[in-house]
Amino acid sequence: NLPTIFVITPTYARPNQLAELNRLRNVLLHIPQVWWLLVEDREEKSELVKNFLTHSGVPHTHLHQPTPPEWKVKDKSPRWTKPRGVLQRNAALDWLRKNADPHLPAVVYFADDDNSYSIELFQEMRWTSQVSVWPVGLVGGVMVERPLCLCRQGVEPDQARPMVTGWLVGWKPERPFPTDMAGFAVNLRLLLDNPDASFSLESEIGFMETDFLSRIVTKEELEPKAECCTKVLVWHMNAVNPNLKDEVRLRQLGRQTDI
Ligand code: UDP
Repeated sequence: NLPTIFVITPTYARPNQLAELNRLRNVLLHIPQVWWLLVEDREEKSELVKNFLTHSGVPHTHLHQPTPPEWKVKDKSPRWTKPRGVLQRNAALDWLRKNADPHLPAVVYFADDDNSYSIELFQEMRWTSQVSVWPVGLVGGVMVERPLCLCRQGVEPDQARPMVTGWLVGWKPERPFPTDMAGFAVNLRLLLDNPDASFSLESEIGFMETDFLSRIVTKEELEPKAECCTKVLVWHMNAVNPNLKDEVRLRQLGRQTDI
């Protein structure tokens, strides 16, 4: 009886969107007992994403939740100036609170659409009692951000539980939970028991994960995964915008249409 993995993914329209969504879909197709909550940052669901999901082969729910214009990253600003995917993740949490069977053994993972995920990562997170954590590659100005853990072998069972003792990160290590969104998973029960646990647009930049986790777990309760947090199974990625320098000209000439 495998616990279900609910994968929550915010997504928004841009040239890369389908390319990114397909990459994530191809991983999820390898994962048993998975449910994809794909949340479009739009006033209405798009036909593009609807068709994509219909033919994806991945069990899913299609949601939408627009970000108000004042919270959108301006074209010329660096992407870190505004939090991204916040209201979309919250919309998925609301959906789970209304629709998920509270007795279903399940874990919730926030998977942005542009990262690189290994199949093994999902095997690691599936058995999460409260909140599990692991390293994330290529994030926070370093090759790897990771929890520092104590995983003792050969001692009394009650002392043998692996523990997080600290964090190895470059940026703001004083944050209570200095991890990226890709670096943790939460047992569904914990989210249902804490109905106020959600992400905030008002969180200080870089504190979204910390503010969320602080409401539901303590450092002592964290469950290290990925061989005592020594293996990198997920990488934070930012796609380069594709070169579309001839696209507008061809469209004006009527020689380029949507396919
Ligand atoms: N996203 C969104 N609306 C936006 C910008 C981003 O829904 O206006 C989504 C995006 O598709 C991704 C998540 O929010 O799944 C995080 O965005 P991004 O990867 O740009 O943020 P980063 O991880 O670099 O902080």
